[in-house]
Amino acid sequence: MFGGIEAGGTKFICGIGTSPADLETTQFPTSSPDITVGSVIEFFHKSRAKLQSIGIGSFGPLDLDPDSPAYGHITSTPKPGWRNFDLAGTIRNALQLPVAIDTDVNAALLGEARWGAARGLTDAIYMTIGTGIGGGALVRGEVVHGLVHPEMGHLRIPHDRTRDPFPGACPFHGDCLEGLAAGPAIQARWGAVGTTLPPDHPAWALEAQYLAYGLNNLAVTLSPQRILLGGGVMQQSHLFTLIRREFAQLLNGYVQHPQLLDQLDHFIQTPQLGSRAGILGTLVLAERAQ
Ligand code: ADP
Ligand code: ZN
Repeated sequence: MFGGIEAGGTKFICGIGTSPADLETTQFPTSSPDITVGSVIEFFHKSRAKLQSIGIGSFGPLDLDPDSPAYGHITSTPKPGWRNFDLAGTIRNALQLPVAIDTDVNAALLGEARWGAARGLTDAIYMTIGTGIGGGALVRGEVVHGLVHPEMGHLRIPHDRTRDPFPGACPFHGDCLEGLAAGPAIQARWGAVGTTLPPDHPAWALEAQYLAYGLNNLAVTLSPQRILLGGGVMQQSHLFTLIRREFAQLLNGYVQHPQLLDQLDHFIQTPQLGSRAGILGTLVLAERAQ
């Protein structure tokens, strides 16, 4: 059996299992590292004997450089109490088990690649549009880390201030993709949460435009075989049609492949594992833990 932890800004999901067939989960609210990680450790202690290793998919930014003294730490988060917290080390020391850690979106991507909508693909992108925007890329079957890890939410995209005077909500960049298109930006721009805006509200055409810009940039950079869009905002399923239309217009027939012409429904689609993608992906991480 493997243990998995999906560490999020509002809750920590803990799971034990090997696959979607046998995964059992429980969750704890995110408060301080002491309390939350304390509960997580207590939970796994009870099953310690049957666990081979632990996989963690976490909010970040994270230090994922194996040679860094801060490997496995949460680094520059504005979240009170969590800055520079040694998440992987604390779990490893308490449980005396091998631990593997990656970003929450990379974990979700691994879950989808093993059991979901990216199964059998070597090149794919998973992006979540929720409180923030984050994304992971699978390239030749491997999750991309690079120098740190990708921060696809902070792509810079065109912002027509006549059409949309909203300055953007990213504390670092203002009108980056996340600043313009994450859930809190929708709420701040229109004065209402996304859940209350009807499908014909202009918020959605604008949202689709911004997301299509981001996806266009990712598609021409990484040439993925498929892009999966998850997160709370994508519960607005009508967005998919709008995004595909905008995406096709932006690409303008330049990149020639059937996937990008008449098969956009497959190219840009929903994750199949839904809200379980992340926690399932932590099991894949756990398999690789050393
Ligand atoms: P998190 O990103 O915190 O893990 P979510 O993916 O649920 O959680 O994202 C929360 C954000 O998504 C909030 O800004 C919320 O307003 C927005 N959101 C959640 N559900 C919907 C929905 N059905 N329609 C539009 N926006 C939504
Ligand atoms: Zn930003």
